[in-house]
Amino acid sequence: MRRPFLVPTGELFRQRGARHPLRLSGPLPDLALSITRLTGDDVVADVVLEAQGEAVTLTGTVTGRWTGECRRCLEPTTGQVTVEVSEVFETDPVEGETYPLGRDAVDLEPVLREALALALPSAPLCDDACPGPDPDAHPVVTAAEDGDEPPAVDPRWAALDVLRSDN
Ligand SMILES: [Zn+2]
Repeated sequence: MRRPFLVPTGELFRQRGARHPLRLSGPLPDLALSITRLTGDDVVADVVLEAQGEAVTLTGTVTGRWTGECRRCLEPTTGQVTVEVSEVFETDPVEGETYPLGRDAVDLEPVLREALALALPSAPLCDDACPGPDPDAHPVVTAAEDGDEPPAVDPRWAALDVLRSDN
């Protein structure tokens, strides 16, 4: 199995305090939030890793494309999110604060997944100006069109009525 977000740490610890910029990309499958989910396209992480003492710090951004349903017109829609990440990895991680650091490598995937999951729109719009459902696709029946209006009186018959009453 390919692990695109698994980074060897040997070089980082040989140069403690040095910044190692990296661009990593790969899919993050099965990431979804209600009606929005990440597409199968590659997620791109632009990050800087740095060993500090026995820990590794990660800063940068992660970008992914999502697909979902517009909350107004209900048509399929897609978009892109970019999230900033800033985390610390250590051998003995603190639950909810830092992430685990392997002996020879650090796996960035859990950080990237969490950051993107929090950034997916829960109620997306295809466009800020989306007017709502397409009237042709979703006909709107109004009370006036649906009601039993009396048929309009043909003006010619109305004139005839006047003649009749004259007689
Ligand atoms: Zn829409």
